[in-house]
Amino acid sequence: MRLRNKPWAKDKIAENPQYVVPNPAEYKGNWKEVFGNENPLHIEVGTGKGQFLVGMAKQNPHINYIGIEMYESVILSALERLIEEELPNLKLLNVDANHLSEFFAKNDVDRVYLNFSDPWPKKRHAKRRLTYKTFLSMYENLLVDGGEIHFKTDNQGLFEYSLTSFSEYGLLLKYISLDLHKSDFEGNVMTEYEEKFSQKGSRIYRCEVKYLNEKD
Ligand code: SAM
Repeated sequence: MRLRNKPWAKDKIAENPQYVVPNPAEYKGNWKEVFGNENPLHIEVGTGKGQFLVGMAKQNPHINYIGIEMYESVILSALERLIEEELPNLKLLNVDANHLSEFFAKNDVDRVYLNFSDPWPKKRHAKRRLTYKTFLSMYENLLVDGGEIHFKTDNQGLFEYSLTSFSEYGLLLKYISLDLHKSDFEGNVMTEYEEKFSQKGSRIYRCEVKYLNEKD
């Protein structure tokens, strides 16, 4: 993602605590209080400009959503969308996903979305991929038992790597599509990157994986 310096981003974020939650560590184990209901919570890690979550929050008003994005200049666009749409079931966190365990306790989250995560193609950078085993362990520690990861990418190398990583971690592969836009999958909400890459003719890979609980 090309980053433009937007010096006003910090102030705009601070002015909208109802959308970009300040001090998220205070809500660890207690996100229901932030939304004021008992609905399930789905998070997107690396949410970018927020198109996917705004679409999902509109489509599913009885699910709460949190978008995690580390760059102020990028989350600003998601915030501007959210101000326009006024969606009560969507919040944003301006934090680095490496620190998710500071903000979420076990059972806080029902599903993790990873969309068009940075591929980090060099082998020596594998630990930075959001589907590397340390991230899978971190997601497990905030998800409910039997929680799921839903993953989309245009990057074949990252997709293949991630399927292996999921499998080696012991996750159950529930659904896989090697060409999402030609599949029978219904209700797909496109992300910014998905729109951009599919317009260029790239195919989109998608999978759903599940952490097994003791009964499975
Ligand atoms: N999900 C969006 C989409 O599909 O259009 C954005 C994809 S973009 C390639 C990846 C996004 O993930 C960027 O906005 C980047 O800043 C964010 N990101 C990458 N690593 C992150 C991390 N460790 N914590 C939070 N955000 C991260």
